[in-house]
Amino acid sequence: MKLDTKAMRHLAAEDWRVLTAVEIGSKNHEVIPTPLIESIAKLRGGANRVHKSISALAKVGLIARLKDARYDGYRLTYGGLDYLALHAYADRKEVYSVGHRIGVGKESDIVAVADDRGVQHVLKIHRLGRISFRTVKSNRDYLRKRQGGSWMYLSRLAAEKEYAFMRALRDEGFPVPQPIAQSRHTVLMHLVDGFPLRQIAQVPDPAALYAELISMILRLARHGLIHGDFNEFNILIKEERKKKEEPSSEKGKEVGDAAAEAEEEEELVITPILIDFPQMVSMDHQNAEMYFDRDVNCVKRFFERRFHFVGTQPGPFFKDAKKTVGKDGAKRLDAAVEASGFSKKALKDLEAAIRAQQEERGEQAGSGEDDDDESADEDEDEDDIDSDNDSRDDTDGEGKRDSKTENPEISMKTL
Ligand code: ADP
Ligand code: MG
Repeated sequence: MKLDTKAMRHLAAEDWRVLTAVEIGSKNHEVIPTPLIESIAKLRGGANRVHKSISALAKVGLIARLKDARYDGYRLTYGGLDYLALHAYADRKEVYSVGHRIGVGKESDIVAVADDRGVQHVLKIHRLGRISFRTVKSNRDYLRKRQGGSWMYLSRLAAEKEYAFMRALRDEGFPVPQPIAQSRHTVLMHLVDGFPLRQIAQVPDPAALYAELISMILRLARHGLIHGDFNEFNILIKEERKKKEEPSSEKGKEVGDAAAEAEEEEELVITPILIDFPQMVSMDHQNAEMYFDRDVNCVKRFFERRFHFVGTQPGPFFKDAKKTVGKDGAKRLDAAVEASGFSKKALKDLEAAIRAQQEERGEQAGSGEDDDDESADEDEDEDDIDSDNDSRDDTDGEGKRDSKTENPEISMKTL
């Protein structure tokens, strides 16, 4: 789904009020009756002014009229919710302009944005639920019964959970993007200047990277967590050229030996950054062992296929990792996040939605477990990929390292 901000600047203050009224009304109504919109918006111009705004909003697709409803009413669209989130960020001076889409995830759009100083950030827009309810599945039925199935509710939960975990992990020093803010179904975060591991053909030292990733899984476990989707799409590789640190260089400097300094070599340092957290589960989850093993096996499998690297040691095993939970002063992040205002029902609803989605995509075995690395199997939503210069839709072929987000500033649109 494309984020189109064209209409944003043309909306009047009244229109924003009416859009907000529709959002408020949707807490208790699937279709918000027009009189309710009127009474929440309380515009000075009365019902007529509200109707004018409703027309304007419906025209640009931010709300949609429900044709076969028992009563006349509207619902908020994804576009409407996108606008409300962007409006909130703009109000708080967190987002000043919006560029094009730099990535499409399984259930999200990743968009380049910038603040008023031109610093580029990333907006992840969750789009959960847009595909979950097409086929009959147990998780879907669960959601329907529990009234937890609305895309707006689920996408918002996904964003809230992701933001909470990103903050908690970042605070503990994990290599994750720095979160900036959260609004509705979106998370604003720092841009990671790198490529998904999926696109990396070679690394200087596969064994070292493998060890680093496995130790990240174990470190998460100590904090009570399993990522749950630890695969080559969710690990971004930052490459930096750094001066090699050699003990002899100190000596060189002391004697002012220019030749020795010139000889200083650069080396390629790569850092894996972990992203994508809505599906994180606790080490106490009833299926924890399955999730843990799946994460470990994703790494193993990918390293074997891509780098022909096979670790010499078996494991790591869940039962060993389980013993380390909370040890050595590791803070239980599973408990901390769950205690931070998420209801049990909300977390269950979200989990069911994510599972329904995985089932729907035939991914029970875990994402990234595709049998053919060559196929562009993750290319979803091809139809609405932004046309202009969106060459980095990072899900294409194996090891492809084409252009990054090239000068996104150029195509940035001020809100
Ligand atoms: P999903 O939950 O839909 O899988 P992800 O969070 O994994 O979404 O993001 C999808 C893609 O967007 C990633 O594979 C990556 O290429 C890109 N991406 C996401 N977050 C960032 C970021 N902070 N910096 C750079 N690229 C990102
Ligand atoms: Mg992902």
